[in-house]
Amino acid sequence: MHGHFYQPERRDPFSGEIVPQPAAAPYRDWNARIDAECYKPNAERGNLRHISYDLGPTLASWMATHDATTHQGFVDSDAPLGVGDRDTGNAMAQSYHHAILPLAALADRRTEIRWGLRDFDLRFGRRPTGIWLPETAVDLPTLRILADERVKYTILAPWQAADTRLDTGRPYRVELGGGRQIVVIFYDAELSASASFQSDATMNADDFARERILPRFSGPGFRDGTPVTALIATDGELYGHHQKFRDLFLARLVNPGPDVPDRGFDITTVGAIVGGTPAGAFLPTQIAERTSWSCHHGVLRWTAECPDAADGRWKGPLRAALERLAAGLDVVAGGLAGDFMEPGALWRARDEYVDVIFGAESPDGFARRWIPLATTEQRERLLVLLEAERWRLAMFASDGWFWDDPVRLETKHVMLCAARAARLIDGAADTDLEGRLVDDLTLLTSPSRRIDGSAIYLEALSDAGQPVG
Ligand SMILES: [Zn+2]
Repeated sequence: MHGHFYQPERRDPFSGEIVPQPAAAPYRDWNARIDAECYKPNAERGNLRHISYDLGPTLASWMATHDATTHQGFVDSDAPLGVGDRDTGNAMAQSYHHAILPLAALADRRTEIRWGLRDFDLRFGRRPTGIWLPETAVDLPTLRILADERVKYTILAPWQAADTRLDTGRPYRVELGGGRQIVVIFYDAELSASASFQSDATMNADDFARERILPRFSGPGFRDGTPVTALIATDGELYGHHQKFRDLFLARLVNPGPDVPDRGFDITTVGAIVGGTPAGAFLPTQIAERTSWSCHHGVLRWTAECPDAADGRWKGPLRAALERLAAGLDVVAGGLAGDFMEPGALWRARDEYVDVIFGAESPDGFARRWIPLATTEQRERLLVLLEAERWRLAMFASDGWFWDDPVRLETKHVMLCAARAARLIDGAADTDLEGRLVDDLTLLTSPSRRIDGSAIYLEALSDAGQPVG
């Protein structure tokens, strides 16, 4: 079993606080509600000790502040029962802001992945061996970065294999060139879909085990002796939030207790299956480039007119507007950094800035380490540039494009991140990147309200109590 636990960065990038979200009543905001319905009970019941899971950094940092006990439960559950090897924990890393990596610039992919791995290391106290790719969106260049960063495995949807009839009952390796490879475990489509989307299937864990899981293990097995596995990968929020009481279902399924006789299969984790085995031991296979788990049209859901959306025409212009902003921000930030850093150093500093966001290093300590001979003003300037880069990365969170309409909270949030980044750089360099962003946002229209993106942007700022002119 694998649970993908993720919520976007919901904190307002200006105030650092989550604006109250009335739709989450009786809770203050969605994070608080999902915590009460899902994260907390699953941690308390010990479910995480028996499953694989990834806890997204943006959610984890909220949890550490607002429910430290549950956060500790997620951290402690990484140590699998009865396994001493710290390389084979239950938890997987996640790339930091949940951007769709095949749509990102190469440097952004590297930063997002490095931040995710480093956040995991700081939080869980070990180097991660596996990473969850946002929306499992994948291509070979992304896998190559993972291999370069010594990531051993990831999870993909079965339709992300190039071979459409691939047997998902065992892990595979993907060759990446230059002697690099990565292990991929494709989840079981039918089991995962029934757990996620058929609420009647998960009414009773014993029935689920007997009627749905057991048949996976009744065949003749693999001739080479590889144990048959079946991975059920879902959103972690399924268990108690998307579907009530499924935290109890999960508890019964993964830890039935001594009174339950042999069910014909064991519960294990992805880390335990692939952690101790060299990648070369798995059969080779190939991935389908630029695919994902929640769009059957590659990665169109986050960039263009995915056929599942009633009207996805706003998505392309939104991405283009933010990409133009990102390019402008990078040029201006790189130019300003040239006053006190050698060329390229800003981007290496960006890759490590996650330590400041995590709180492992003070901002001033970080700046002193990178530019020891600089003036106080220059150190402050460096921190402004890195803070702008942080929100510039955050503005590509996949949530901004996931839903049907840009007037939603999630799209407004990526716009706020863009505003924060633009204002920081405009303030430092006396540029007008925000003005160009607002112009570019007029190129998209909300299908429901027929207002353009610049009106949505101004609404988002005004909701957040920020000046709009
Ligand atoms: Zn689609």
